[in-house]
Amino acid sequence: MGSNVILSLIIIYFSVANIEAAGKKNAFVGFANKLDSKKTFNRSTSSLSNSISRDECNLPDELTEEISRYKPIVEGIINASVNGIFKKRTWRTLARFVDKFGSRIAGSDNLENSIDYMVDLLKKNQLENVHTEPALVPKWVRGRESCWLVSPRLEKLSILGLGSSIGTPAKGITAHAVVVESFEELKKLGKVVEGKIVVFNEPFISYEKTVKYRGYGAIEAAKLGAVATLIRSVTPFSIDSPHTGWQHYQENVTQIPTAAISIEIAETLQRMYQAGDDILIYLYMEARNLPPVMSRNTIGDITGHQHPEKVVVVSGHLDSWDVGQGAMDDGGGAFISWNALALLKVLGLRPRRTLRSILWTAEEEGLVGAAAYFHDHRNNTAAFDFVMESDEGTFQPLGLSFSGSSEAGCILKEILKLMHPLNATQFASPMDGGPDIEFFTNVGIPGAALLNANERYFWYHHSNGDRMTVEDPTNLDMCTALWAASAFVVADLSIDMPR
Ligand SMILES: [Zn+2]
Repeated sequence: MGSNVILSLIIIYFSVANIEAAGKKNAFVGFANKLDSKKTFNRSTSSLSNSISRDECNLPDELTEEISRYKPIVEGIINASVNGIFKKRTWRTLARFVDKFGSRIAGSDNLENSIDYMVDLLKKNQLENVHTEPALVPKWVRGRESCWLVSPRLEKLSILGLGSSIGTPAKGITAHAVVVESFEELKKLGKVVEGKIVVFNEPFISYEKTVKYRGYGAIEAAKLGAVATLIRSVTPFSIDSPHTGWQHYQENVTQIPTAAISIEIAETLQRMYQAGDDILIYLYMEARNLPPVMSRNTIGDITGHQHPEKVVVVSGHLDSWDVGQGAMDDGGGAFISWNALALLKVLGLRPRRTLRSILWTAEEEGLVGAAAYFHDHRNNTAAFDFVMESDEGTFQPLGLSFSGSSEAGCILKEILKLMHPLNATQFASPMDGGPDIEFFTNVGIPGAALLNANERYFWYHHSNGDRMTVEDPTNLDMCTALWAASAFVVADLSIDMPR
């Protein structure tokens, strides 16, 4: 895009802002009245935002008109990202980043070096107020690991130890295995489990419904005296690929080593078990939990020209698992978030409120960076107007999923109509895929996550397959455009997002 186009965008922007200023006061009063009546309605029927239908939206005409006046600005943003100066920019910067640093697990030098790099990159891209804020994060180190089927025949099994798992004794663990599909089946086995390795071959229903086996399998098996667990990876698809992830121990329950195995191996072991084979497995893991270390959330702003103290957050997490490159989880989310601000900056678009890009640290260990940030800003939650996060893929964008008041939902729906050139106008509720920003949405701050065609997200999630090859340049451009345009309009509206 040439500088003439940028100039005309700037001119369009300021004329829109002026028109708004003229009608703003009336629009606000009218809308505030409707808000009150709607709130009463909500209280008496306990209807919440997840049941908004298009007909329930009754935004004041002034507000609908105000939003529609952003059309040329949104088109300019989309054009610059998809066809103009930012074309392939998100892909290129992300590829450089993940190729340079590789995986970035919390507590690692890789992650801290990558944070230093991002601080530098954000400054180079003219983001403002670039800084980091500290968070104390777990340090889990995988070390070497291996697993063999010893009987009924010899086969090396692909495994990935689960985050926070302890290691085995130096000589490894050799034990007979039992195979179950559920916690209920495990409990029925009772004493049989003692001294055994428990293999979970739980069917994949959805990530949310199935992940409890990864999270709590070791606890439930240890309660019955198991010596280790092997958990079928939480994924719908596999080419003998194990998928890691965080797991929990419980106080007063013996900690046992636990690792993920592939779907194929879990099914093989179950068939053997059902056929009555005597299954003997050797497991070796050096995994260790070291003392927590300091890490940092990375922050860059475009300061608002009218309400600099009010903030719209666009975010993703910079850390990843220690396998693959963390290009998808969550390199893509982090990179559309800061590139959205870099793009607005190049276009000279400064909204009324402050836009803040946050690259969270240690999401994978339990939203640790976001918890620290929220805690540090807990006395100032009134400043947060709207929060956004992308952490479920940056495939073809479809729209936004939302949590918050029905009024804010209606405003977002209206804004999404502007995303027609991207074919990304879908609105869903409640929000799905914004783990770090749930600290904010849980206290009533409206928020949104990126809706995208992520049917294959869990194919790569937490595995060696999460590499740059998963990411597509055009999809990333479209995600950056949707992210930049929707965040800009929200941050520039004449009214705050209603809570
Ligand atoms: Zn993630």
